[in-house]
Amino acid sequence: MDGGSHESDVLSLFRERGQLSRTDVIALSGLSRTTVNHRLSTLTASGLLVPVEGGESTGGRPSSRFDFSARRAVILCADIGATGFTVAACDLSGAPLADAERTIDVWSGPEAVLSLVLEAFRAIDTGDEIWGIAVGVPGPVEFAAHRVVNPPIMTGWDRFDIAAWFAPHYGAPVLVENDANARAVAEARVHRLDNVIALKLGTGIGAGLVFNGQIIRGDKGAAGDIGHTRATIVDPEPRECRCGSFDCVEAYAGGCCGRSASPPPAPGTSSSSSATATSRRCGGSARRAASSATRSPISSAS
Ligand SMILES: [Zn+2]
Repeated sequence: MDGGSHESDVLSLFRERGQLSRTDVIALSGLSRTTVNHRLSTLTASGLLVPVEGGESTGGRPSSRFDFSARRAVILCADIGATGFTVAACDLSGAPLADAERTIDVWSGPEAVLSLVLEAFRAIDTGDEIWGIAVGVPGPVEFAAHRVVNPPIMTGWDRFDIAAWFAPHYGAPVLVENDANARAVAEARVHRLDNVIALKLGTGIGAGLVFNGQIIRGDKGAAGDIGHTRATIVDPEPRECRCGSFDCVEAYAGGCCGRSASPPPAPGTSSSSSATATSRRCGGSARRAASSATRSPISSAS
């Protein structure tokens, strides 16, 4: 939207507080009536604010109340994990309007996985205008460049430009973020907290750090990448991690790397292909051994 941060500041008041009158906005923002009138006009013209009934009366002249129009457009979101993803079409308040899940193998590479994400986006199309694409991935992200960088487990994704991949399909900005970071920001906003550490404990392990209201990404997006730090209590025999290193936290506590744990077979895979997928997911040496074998097909759960 044109208009810069000034309109955004006024819009934020509505997003945080719900319906407000013109007088409320003047009092809360500290802006002059003329400025508030201008910004309310801009936001109303863009469809982000709508007048509502029950306006206040000042000096005998009614003035409207306004409300945030979360259904003005949707944001398409994809939370990509190692073995599956969730997509959702969310309104501008972040509420999901439609969603779907698919089983994937992130090691299949970005082209294969993002093609399935695109297919899922189309399956949940709400018909609303699409104002943005948000993609969470299970690896470090160079946020400004929309790229995964040096991912410990996402073979084939290193420096792949996810935003550029979506560009031919949607004329909307694309944000790419580490999944744990996205979770931390969401938790901070929902619970109105300035300081949050959000852990993702799944196939992989990661953390998102919000301090003083700001996400901390660190060098090359690796600030919360705790899954591949060395575990403090280790086996006498080093345990190899999927990343190729030894005794990572994830090698002991990751979702499929426990001593006896193994992931369920992917829907639609045969027992032999599931075994291949399992060995690839759970251990660097097994992964490398499996790399010469025929890859199991990507499955789509309905
Ligand atoms: Zn590791």
